[in-house]
Amino acid sequence: MNNEQLKIPQATAKRLPLYYRFIQNLHASGKQRVSSAELSEAVKVDSATIRRDFSYFGALGKKGYGYNVQYLLTFFRKTLDQDELTYVTLIGVGNLGTAFLHYNFMKNNNTKIVTAFDVDESKIGSEIGGVPVYHLDDMEKHLPENVTVAILTVPAPVAQPIADRLVEKGVKGILNFTPARINVPDTIRIHHIDLAVELQSLVYFLKHYPSE
Ligand code: ATP
Repeated sequence: MNNEQLKIPQATAKRLPLYYRFIQNLHASGKQRVSSAELSEAVKVDSATIRRDFSYFGALGKKGYGYNVQYLLTFFRKTLDQDELTYVTLIGVGNLGTAFLHYNFMKNNNTKIVTAFDVDESKIGSEIGGVPVYHLDDMEKHLPENVTVAILTVPAPVAQPIADRLVEKGVKGILNFTPARINVPDTIRIHHIDLAVELQSLVYFLKHYPSE
């Protein structure tokens, strides 16, 4: 994301990709405007939050008109740096890692996994989803300079030392799918996605906050 939107609250910034995906679909279907109520229904964010989020970046919807889809699309593309490709590496080509290598991230956002690393000899030297898999010992050799983001899908106990090496190598953001809480310098951005916790939380909400 570029510097212009540094003042946008982090919670708002996190919702931008969600909005962007929906606006892209609207644009592709030829729609020219959208109301905050329609957006709200589609992305499941309440409309007051959407109006507040949009006000941060100067998209002021008009009553009875809504938001101009082309304006929003241009804004999101620019803000999310969609014209610039982000190169990603993936560490840990297990079940989850393999699924990510097969997933086409380019479809919805401009990110591309270019290398993968593992320690399992049976995987080293193979290509999965068009991505070459190297031995983690050779990371320093095979990690291209332009890679700024890493996806961690390794067993939790090895997450921290691998993160340290990635940071040392210049990686700026880590998407951590392991349950390990990783420590990184303040200049590095780390997002934790613990699928087991997410699932547990969904089950909890279903039990304790059943919908009418
Ligand atoms: P699988 O069924 O392939 O073992 P999994 O997701 O159930 O997948 P995990 O034990 O979570 O298995 O390991 C994920 C991947 O991380 C595996 O491919 C494993 O070889 C790899 N791995 C384990 N230790 C390391 C390490 N130190 N560095 C890099 N990759 C590692």
